[in-house]
Amino acid sequence: MAEHDIEGAGIGTRLVGVGRRAEWTGSADHPGAVVNPPVYRASTHLYPDMAALRAHPANEDGKFYYGRRGAPTQWALSEALTALEPGAEGTVLYPSGVAAIMGALLTVLRPGDVLLMIDNAYEPSRAMGRGLLKDFGVETRWFDPADPAAFEAAICERTKAVLLENPGSLTIEVCDVPRLSAIAKAHGVTVVLDNTWASPLGFPALERGADITIMSLTKHVGGHSDAMMGSASAGPAWYRKLRLRAQGLGNVVSPDDAALMLRGLRTMGLRLAQETGSALAVAEWLSAQPEVARVMCPMLPGSPGHELWKRDFTGGCGLLSFVLKGGTSAARDALIDGLSLFGIGYSWGGFESLATPVDPASIRTASPWPLPGLDAGDLFGVRLSIGLEDAGDLIADLARALTTWRAAA
Ligand SMILES: *Cc1c(COP(=O)(O)O)cnc(C)c1O
Repeated sequence: MAEHDIEGAGIGTRLVGVGRRAEWTGSADHPGAVVNPPVYRASTHLYPDMAALRAHPANEDGKFYYGRRGAPTQWALSEALTALEPGAEGTVLYPSGVAAIMGALLTVLRPGDVLLMIDNAYEPSRAMGRGLLKDFGVETRWFDPADPAAFEAAICERTKAVLLENPGSLTIEVCDVPRLSAIAKAHGVTVVLDNTWASPLGFPALERGADITIMSLTKHVGGHSDAMMGSASAGPAWYRKLRLRAQGLGNVVSPDDAALMLRGLRTMGLRLAQETGSALAVAEWLSAQPEVARVMCPMLPGSPGHELWKRDFTGGCGLLSFVLKGGTSAARDALIDGLSLFGIGYSWGGFESLATPVDPASIRTASPWPLPGLDAGDLFGVRLSIGLEDAGDLIADLARALTTWRAAA
């Protein structure tokens, strides 16, 4: 099979083809001999002689050097992710999504700088602002995701970066990335976007204005709840800086995990399409239940953020939340315990459905919760990661659990 130019092809075609360079999937006399890049499990890379070691090119992608700079398995994953991200020059891999966010922020920020963080950012990102970044002299300030004017007003001379999460992975609130990015750009502020929810399949982040786009590959790319990794992709302004900072931090990912991520990537389009359809069915059903005060799923027509979602996104995923009408924390626990098809666990994007409690009131600092339009007692949220089970079965399970909630509330 010849290597085809798949750049302009459809997403399914690209997901099948990306990262499968013939030189990484075979030998010199039989390039492209196997389908997948083999797992190069290697710390030491050998040189044939001293002349070769001395002649080794400077710090470049795709060259054997030493294990920490990866080998073809990791290079193939980086190249595949870059090919899926319009505007990207390259992609840096990190051992987790959190490491990717911190790796990007430590590339962009210096002591004395101010980081603006969107108030719907998930807790580990917020913890960076309160913890490591603060310890290293960076001040973090939070702003209301729904208020671009408040964002602009919060920018000061020391503001060097903004961290967005679109939509936020707890409340699934969509922000206006093109508008916030334009404001940031006008003030010389670098836009770092956590794009884990949509992935480049659903939101071409760099094209929409982000300077650096991050994913927790643990979620959709892995897709099977068995490996952790993160990525940061960027254009020429930031890619090499990200890469050097990641090297300085000693970040490296295992070739076995990179192979798992490549495997997951091939079916990611199918999984996202299936999960999106099921999530929509679940969201529609939930929105008709009297026990539910609000469904937070921007893909659902009429729900908050749907207009922005329609304008900016090209796809969705299975992660949604809903807020119960009143009730107690214990009743919500009973609801989650009453589910039999949803695991209880802090992740999402796997093939299996999960449910977790969501309590934004306890972490938000710059924007109201409950959101406008909800009652003061509408405090208890549930986040669902819709997997590949049949939507009808998931809805029946939720219906049974809502009965449990009614009895406990
Ligand atoms: C899970 C998650 C992360 C962190 O990823 P890990 O791989 O678990 O470190 C970052 N951002 C979002 C939105 C997430 O859901």
